[in-house]
Amino acid sequence: MIEFKDVYFKYKNADVLKNINVSIKEGEAVALIGPNGSGKSTFLKIVNGIEFAKKGKYCFKGEEINSKKLEDNKFCKLFHKNVGFVFQNSDAQLFCSNVYDEIAFGPRQMGLKEEEVNMRVEDCLKLLDVEDLREREPYNLSGGEKKRVAIASVLALNPEVLVLDEPMNGIDPKGKRFLKDLMIKLNSSGKTIICSTHDFEYVQDVFKRALVFSEEHTIVRDDDYNSVINDNDFLVHYNIK
Ligand code: ADP
Ligand code: MG
Repeated sequence: MIEFKDVYFKYKNADVLKNINVSIKEGEAVALIGPNGSGKSTFLKIVNGIEFAKKGKYCFKGEEINSKKLEDNKFCKLFHKNVGFVFQNSDAQLFCSNVYDEIAFGPRQMGLKEEEVNMRVEDCLKLLDVEDLREREPYNLSGGEKKRVAIASVLALNPEVLVLDEPMNGIDPKGKRFLKDLMIKLNSSGKTIICSTHDFEYVQDVFKRALVFSEEHTIVRDDDYNSVINDNDFLVHYNIK
């Protein structure tokens, strides 16, 4: 479903991703781990078509994703409907004046009838347990509430792939447990999950596979999640622990 072939990326001068070769199948739950600055967020931005490989290519369902392809409005809409991105910073994702409209935004953009929009919003409010927040201004919510609303607004499009960039950051333990259970539920309902995280203990049972990014901006290990996080020497060597 997702394929990186010899992907190389840089912003200005410094290399940010080198020799990235990864393939992710439909229905997988994959964790991205690695020190700050190793390129995890950039990898996720390429998955979502926000940045593009400078060399090599990234394919989604066999189609190469590049800026030219996304200029095609129809293709672009379909791609962004299929791949949902929960930003690390919820403030960058929330812009409506109330939670209901925030979650309804994507479905309305898709041109769905207001009745269908309403059904989706209600489902997502319930799924994220934020029904009581529907009238609130997203801007004034707590960090944990913002994260839930951001996830609800992405899930309202019913994407096949859910990409999350450090969703547990700044979230309290109860919120982290909620997110963990949600990811398990979504994955068992068939969604592909790709998520960067430092919260190993909270995401146990979610992921089958880990991609480990190093300070040299390459993937140094692509392995069973539990084998990786139980390999203390490895984690210490790569400054992950
Ligand atoms: P991670 O998510 O693993 O912490 P990032 O992908 O955010 O890593 O960043 C990788 C490197 O790219 C870092 O050195 C970071 O400073 C740099 N970087 C990230 N975004 C930008 C940007 N928009 N412009 C220039 N450099 C950037
Ligand atoms: Mg990051």
